Amino acid sequence: MSEMENTIPVDGYTDTPILPGTRWNVHDPRRPMPRIVTPAPYDRPYEPPSDARMLFDGRDLSGWIGKDGAARWKVENGYMEVVPKTGDIWTRESFGDGHYHVEWAAPTEVKGTGQGRGNSGVFLMRLYEVQVLDCYQNPTYADGTTGAVYGQFPPLVNACRAPGEWQTYDIFWFGPRFEGDRLVRPARITVVFNGLPVQIGQELMGPTVWRKVPAYHPHPDAAPLQLQDHGNFVRYRNIWYRPF
Ligand code: MG
Repeated sequence: MSEMENTIPVDGYTDTPILPGTRWNVHDPRRPMPRIVTPAPYDRPYEPPSDARMLFDGRDLSGWIGKDGAARWKVENGYMEVVPKTGDIWTRESFGDGHYHVEWAAPTEVKGTGQGRGNSGVFLMRLYEVQVLDCYQNPTYADGTTGAVYGQFPPLVNACRAPGEWQTYDIFWFGPRFEGDRLVRPARITVVFNGLPVQIGQELMGPTVWRKVPAYHPHPDAAPLQLQDHGNFVRYRNIWYRPF
């Protein structure tokens, strides 16, 4: 399989603040883009381990809610699909530290460029986004690519499969801890994307923000898992969680 090298991002910002500890602006198109790696072929969804809590088994969205109460995304053929403009959806229950397994697919019909192509996201605790984006032959700013901690840390590699193919995230999450208003432990994340590590024990700067430097604010140790409606027909299936 031939690989198309990253070219120049089609979007990004240079009028944003500098990210602490880096020489880059938030969403900087000049920040080096992740190297492209072709992952091993996808076999089939792997069964949840015995101690996993199934959050979406492909049948219904009874465990999920949206802005008007009900989650209004479409469910068919064992997956859910974003219905644009119905908004983000999140689990009824709250979760904290643990292993989150999520499978997703970008729309087969390729539309849009940069952040406009197959955009969605997995928000841990409704605050911290692991970016979902179709970055297959689609250059965009590094901190917004697939597997990025959006607006903070690009993934180590770009392991995207072609649009329409199923892709896997295994996210190992340690949420932040607060004592009163004080942050005593920042969040830490490891993300395995299509079998390749793209974030390894990465400490987060704070919740996901757009065009801003993140900053923590106190919140409980558990919160729902949220999926983003960014206006594109992204699909999800086989979502489960195991506490550590
Ligand atoms: Mg997103």
